[in-house]
Amino acid sequence: MARREFSVTGIVQGVGFRPFVYRIARERNLSGGVLNNGRGVFIHVEGSAEAIDRFGNDLVTKTPPLAHIVSVESEDKEERGESGFIIEKSESSVERSALISPDCDVCPDCLTELFDPSDRRYRYPFTNCANCGPRYSIVLDVPYDRPNTTMADFKLCKKCREEYENPEERRFHAQPVACPECGPTLVFRDERFEPVAGVDSVKAGVTAIADGGIVATKGIGGYHLAVDANNESAVNRLRRRKKRDEKPFALMVSDLATAKTIARIDTFTAGLMESVPHPIVLAEKLDTFSLPGVAPGCGRFGIMLPYTPLHHLILREGGFTALVMTSANLSDDPIVHTEEEARAGLSGIADAYLTHDRAIEHRTDDSVELPMTHGPVIIRRSRGYTPTPILLDKAYPPTLAMGGDLKNTFCVIKDDQAFISQHIGDLSWERSITYLESSLDRFMKLIDAGQPQVVAFDKHPDSAGGRLAKERYGSAVLVPVQHHHAHFVSALVERGALEGESIGIVFDGTGYGDDGAIWGGEFLTGSAEGFVRAGAIDPLPLPGGDRAIKEPWRIAIALIDELYGEDHPLQNAPWVQSIPEETRRAVLRMYHKGINTPLSHGAGRVFDVAAVLMGLCVNAGFEGQPVMALEALVEPEVECGYPVDIEEKGNRMNLSFRPAFRGVIADILAKTPPGVMATRFHNTVVEGAFRMAQQIRGASGLSRLVLSGGCFQNRYLSDTLGSRLTNSGFKVLRHGRVPPNDGGISLGQAIVAARRM
Ligand code: ZN
Ligand code: ZN
Ligand code: FE
Repeated sequence: MARREFSVTGIVQGVGFRPFVYRIARERNLSGGVLNNGRGVFIHVEGSAEAIDRFGNDLVTKTPPLAHIVSVESEDKEERGESGFIIEKSESSVERSALISPDCDVCPDCLTELFDPSDRRYRYPFTNCANCGPRYSIVLDVPYDRPNTTMADFKLCKKCREEYENPEERRFHAQPVACPECGPTLVFRDERFEPVAGVDSVKAGVTAIADGGIVATKGIGGYHLAVDANNESAVNRLRRRKKRDEKPFALMVSDLATAKTIARIDTFTAGLMESVPHPIVLAEKLDTFSLPGVAPGCGRFGIMLPYTPLHHLILREGGFTALVMTSANLSDDPIVHTEEEARAGLSGIADAYLTHDRAIEHRTDDSVELPMTHGPVIIRRSRGYTPTPILLDKAYPPTLAMGGDLKNTFCVIKDDQAFISQHIGDLSWERSITYLESSLDRFMKLIDAGQPQVVAFDKHPDSAGGRLAKERYGSAVLVPVQHHHAHFVSALVERGALEGESIGIVFDGTGYGDDGAIWGGEFLTGSAEGFVRAGAIDPLPLPGGDRAIKEPWRIAIALIDELYGEDHPLQNAPWVQSIPEETRRAVLRMYHKGINTPLSHGAGRVFDVAAVLMGLCVNAGFEGQPVMALEALVEPEVECGYPVDIEEKGNRMNLSFRPAFRGVIADILAKTPPGVMATRFHNTVVEGAFRMAQQIRGASGLSRLVLSGGCFQNRYLSDTLGSRLTNSGFKVLRHGRVPPNDGGISLGQAIVAARRM
C-alpha cells in the first residue's frame, strides 16, 4: 500500500475535473479525496503502488475536454489508511492563481437533451453542463464558484441542485447550470424593445428572421445581428443600416455539409470549425457568386458553426442553412453586450430582439482563424481563447502592456504566464477607450495580477495606450516599445525563440518608427533586448496623410506622376476617370508642394497601390480590402514576377518596388489578365523580401527568421515566402496562436518591457 499527493495546475476548475478524478480513482480502487484550492486541484490517493501509477497516467491522458493541465507535481507520503474516495470542500486560500476556462460550445450530450421532447431541458436555450457553456464571459471574481458569476441570482431548483451536488452527474459543480424552472429566460422583443407577451420566443425570433427581419440576438459574449443569409435584400438592408458598405459579414451555417456547399472545407478546416472555441474560420469561397451580399469582393467567407443552444434552435427550427451573424455594434464600436446598450445602440438597426437575463460580465467577440499551410493562424483572439494564458520561458515581474491603437488588446504578465485580453477594438473611438479601461480593471482582478511594476505601450507620441499608461500607472516603470519591434517579439515569444538573435520581416500597415517616420515594411535584426533596422521598403508618398490610406488612389496618382510626369499612360483608366479632375489636381498640388504628404514604408501601401493600378478598387472600404481583392485573384500556377531594386541607403538596405509598378503599368497597357498581374505582383513581393533576407543573412550570419505583421494574413504571400526561405536553409518562425496583426503586439510589448527589468 502507498500514498501519493498530486497538485494539478492549469484550467482545472469548472471543467468537470473533480468528478473525472473521482471516477478514475474509483476505477482503480483507490481511496482518498480531491479538492479545489487557490492553485488548482489537490488530490490524495492510497492503494497499491501499481494502481497509483496507472491513476497518475490516466490523470494526464484522459482529461475532460475543457481541462488544460499546465503542471502536475506529485509526492509520495506516509500511508494513513483512508477509506472511500470523496470530493472534499474547496480550500479557501489567499493564493488565487487557478485559471478560468474560456467560454465553450455546447456539448453533444446537452445538444441531445435540447432536442429530446422527453427531457426537462427540451428547447431550453441555456442548457449547459460541466463540459460546456459560458465561463469567462460570466465570471465576476475568483475562485470560480456560482456566487462569483452572473448566475449568482438564479437560485437552483431542487432537480438542478441534485445534479449539481452529485459527483456522478455531468452537471456536478457546473456553475452556470440551469433549467426552465430556475434559470435565465429568453425574451422576444419588438422593434421598440418592448417584450412581446404570450409568444414562444424562439419561434417568434425564427419567424422574424424568416420574414427578412434583422434580429439582435444576445449570445455568449455579446449581441449578434442575425439575418437570413440567403435573403439578399435583408442582407443589403443590414449593410445599409449598419453603415458597413463593403466589409464582409460572418456566416453561421447549420452544419459542415452546408459549409462545404459554399466554401472549400478540407479536413483541417473542418477540424478548426469544430474545435472548442468554434471560431469564425476564413475559408475559400467555392463560387464567388454565392450569397452575393455577404462578402463582396472577397475570396473567402468567414464561417462558423452554431455554438450555443439558442443558435441550434434558431437554425434547426427555422430550417435556415446560413445566417449572417455579425457583431452588433455601430461601425467599429465595441460589441453591444447589455440590454441598455442594445436598446440605445441598436434602435434603427434591429427589427426585433432576442434577449435574456444572464448578464455578460466580459464581452468577447467571436474569434477569427485562418487555415494556413503551416497550421491555423489566429486573426482575432477572443471568445473561446481568452483568458487562456501563453506560457513563457520563465517568471517575470508583474507587467502590463497597453497594445496598439488599432485592433487593441492588452496583455498582463503574471509569473511565467502572459494573458492577452479579448479583442477591444479601435482606440480612436471614445467608447473603445472606456471599454479598455473597464476591462483592464476587471481583467487584472480576475487574474489577481497585482499592481504592474512595468507598463509598456506603443512609442507613438500620441498613442492612446501611452496616454492611458501615464495617467493610470504613473508610478510604474514606463517602457515605450517600437511598433514593429513588438510585432517581431510577439512571434519570438510564441515560438519560444527569445534567446539569441533573429531576423524579423514585419510587413504591416502603419507604425511609428524610431526616426519619427511611418514604418511598416521592416527588416529587423535582434531580439527582445533590442533591434537594428537592417532594411526597409522604399517609402511611398501619402498625399493627405491618413486619408490616403482610406483613399489609396491618392498614393497611386502621386506615384504615376513621379514615374511618368503629367502625361501618364493610365490617364484614361476608368478608376482615374472616376475621380473628378479637380480633386485629382488638388491632390497632386498637395503632393508637389509636400503639404501633408508624409512618406510611408508600409508594406500594406505597396499592395494598395498595385490594387488601385489594376483597377480593383479606388478606395479601401475597410482596412485590408485592396490586398484582399488582389489576393483573391491569385493563380498559383503563374510563376514569374516584376523587377525590384535593392540598394544600400545610409546604413540599411532599401527595397524599392518602383520598377515593379512600371511593370504592372506595362502589363495593364498590354491587357494582361488581372489574375496573372495579381500573381506576378505577389511573386515580386516574395522575391524582394527573399533577396533582402539573403543579404541580411550574409551580413549578420543570422538564419532564424520571423514573419510578422498583418500582411502575413495573406496566405499566398506567407506560404510562398515561407517555403522559399525554408528551402534556402532559413529557420522560419510564423504566427499561430498569437495574431500576426496588431491584435498580437501587446504580447510583444509586454515581453520587451518585462525583460528589461
Ligand atoms: Zn454540456
Ligand atoms: Zn433548475
Ligand atoms: Fe502593426
